[in-house]
Amino acid sequence: MIVLKFGGTSVKDQEAIERLGEIVRAAAPNAVVVVSALAGVTDRLLAVANAAGAGNADDALVILEELRERHYAVADVVKNPILNRHVVEAIALEYDALVETVNALVTLRETSPRWTDAIAAAGELISSRIVAAALSSRGIDAEWVDARSAVVTDNDFTCATPDMAATAEATRALCEPLLAAGRVPVLGGFVGATPDGMTTTLGRGGSDFSGALIGASLGADEIQIWTDVDGMLTADPRIIPDAQVVPYLSFAEASELAHFGAKVLHPATILPAVAKNIPVRILNSKKPSAIGTLITGERSTGAPASGVTAIASKSGITVLNITSTRMVMAHGFLRRLFEVFEINKTAVDVVTTSEASVSVTVDDRRRLPMIIDALSEFAEVSSEDDMAIVCAVGDALPSNAAAAGEILGALNDVPLRMVSQAASRRNVTIVLRSEDLHRALARLHERFVTAGSTVL
Ligand code: ADP
Ligand code: ASP
Ligand code: MG
Repeated sequence: MIVLKFGGTSVKDQEAIERLGEIVRAAAPNAVVVVSALAGVTDRLLAVANAAGAGNADDALVILEELRERHYAVADVVKNPILNRHVVEAIALEYDALVETVNALVTLRETSPRWTDAIAAAGELISSRIVAAALSSRGIDAEWVDARSAVVTDNDFTCATPDMAATAEATRALCEPLLAAGRVPVLGGFVGATPDGMTTTLGRGGSDFSGALIGASLGADEIQIWTDVDGMLTADPRIIPDAQVVPYLSFAEASELAHFGAKVLHPATILPAVAKNIPVRILNSKKPSAIGTLITGERSTGAPASGVTAIASKSGITVLNITSTRMVMAHGFLRRLFEVFEINKTAVDVVTTSEASVSVTVDDRRRLPMIIDALSEFAEVSSEDDMAIVCAVGDALPSNAAAAGEILGALNDVPLRMVSQAASRRNVTIVLRSEDLHRALARLHERFVTAGSTVL
């Protein structure tokens, strides 16, 4: 059995859903389909939640009507008149509920993460209903499954953590009888619910994670991530247009790349796949016959000669410089420091230390003011915004003493803020100013991918 997850661009309009239909037909009946919201819809729903919370009813309702019309238009892909009527009714009910929620929030003049999730989840709940009906209408026996009954999470709204065991049990109970009857379950990604039934979401880009969770729950043979690029590329194609497909990756490489900015894969996707040793394949829904990227426990072929498999990057990073108010770093200082991040549930990506100070990078800025306040109780803190991370990844890097030197050498005149390489890690990570990201990435890509250095 295969889980096929389709991202926003792969369900964005009628044509995309027709392509999806052909891809699912080739895999059915032993298939489970997980879909994102139509491209751009989640952004718009979040704008609705913000406008409603600000008391701006008109803006919120105008966006809702625009989205309602878009979904009705896309639902015309469902040609069977009875199925079409059912899906249009379901869309109408979702939007009526959204209008009610907006009116309540406008009156309260506030929105909370909980209400934001209730609104944002509608994107996947509706797209999955449309896709289920579109498949059935094309003669593929599909059934919509409410992801809120399958994916069980904690109540950390907007970035909830799934309970793997409860999710496995619920997903199996819902999907196995359908699969046994030769039917294709269709679920919305990104969405879950707490054990007491409150709607949650798994964080932006979380549909990949849903696909992997559902695949692991059902013991899938493969988890396929269908998207708008040919696979994991050697660098972000929006910055490096001639980035190439990486045909094979290990789980460890894919995790590092996703964590350090390769948006094609949500960073948590690999965890459930590793737990059950399920291969993950990234494929292009516009070019279904292209080979894509296969991600497995052990890479299926040798590492590239340069030692660098791919280079991830992300910008919009903040660097915090935290200096002990004593002359040297007292013992216990690091524990106190990291406790602040733990209490504020904020991940730190890169860390460097010197005699009396520590620098860390933070991607998620939501709790930054609280973090700086808490750190200031025992340290001096300064922050630098508009920073970026470049991360060269390769399974062969840890065994290659020259790699870090070559990577830094290639960046000779680019000012670097932090550099990190651990003996056993598969990456060399560099923090620099966002304005230098393009040339740094271009330089590394040219040297290690296009020209293929002989570091090894
Ligand atoms: P989906 O909606 O299918 O989930 P996303 O937009 O989340 O798609 O992810 C695909 C996008 O990720 C690509 O269009 C590309 O711009 C971006 N991306 C960034 N880094 C990489 C990379 N290393 N390889 C492939 N795509 C990448
Ligand atoms: N629709 C959600 C988002 O835009 C989840 C996803 O597409 O993976 O973040
Ligand atoms: Mg995505």
